[in-house]
Amino acid sequence: MIFLIDQDQVLAHFELGLYNSVVKNYGISKSIHPDNRKGFYASKQYRNQVGLDIDHLLIEKGFLYNLDDIDGAIDGIKKLANKHEVFICTSPMTEHPSCLQEKYDWIKDKIGKEFCKKLITTKDKTIVYGDYLIDDKVDIKGIGEKRWQHLLFESPVNINDAPHMEKVTWKEIVEKFC
Ligand SMILES: [Mg+2]
Repeated sequence: MIFLIDQDQVLAHFELGLYNSVVKNYGISKSIHPDNRKGFYASKQYRNQVGLDIDHLLIEKGFLYNLDDIDGAIDGIKKLANKHEVFICTSPMTEHPSCLQEKYDWIKDKIGKEFCKKLITTKDKTIVYGDYLIDDKVDIKGIGEKRWQHLLFESPVNINDAPHMEKVTWKEIVEKFC
């Protein structure tokens, strides 16, 4: 089977990285713990806290490269890749000047160089095909018909969204497919 794996919030802990960055720069009173984040786009909720500065934090050099990994992600993707064809399918942050380099280096240093050969970057995941797309975003749109089954990766942001969708964690992915 072919698996397409989203990078931010499925492999890399984007929400925790942002939380830590806001705490460091503006203090805990301006921060929103990942468990209390609402809505897919962090920048929208954070505008009430730190204004437009949120846009600068998100594109800060090193922000993407220094993200921690999600619990079970590194072990999980390696196990999945032993049994299936696994690609990392990530949407680039077009305002971030070193986005692609940092995402590439994160994969190389956290998971392994061989996974860099399996990196797909696109804003439109509907043009990619596979058996499953594992992604924390609820609503994935594009110019094409979806040619994969979407497994919604569980995150604090989407926990109450889309009750009709099956949500998965790395533990469940490994149990089900490995
Ligand atoms: Mg994501």
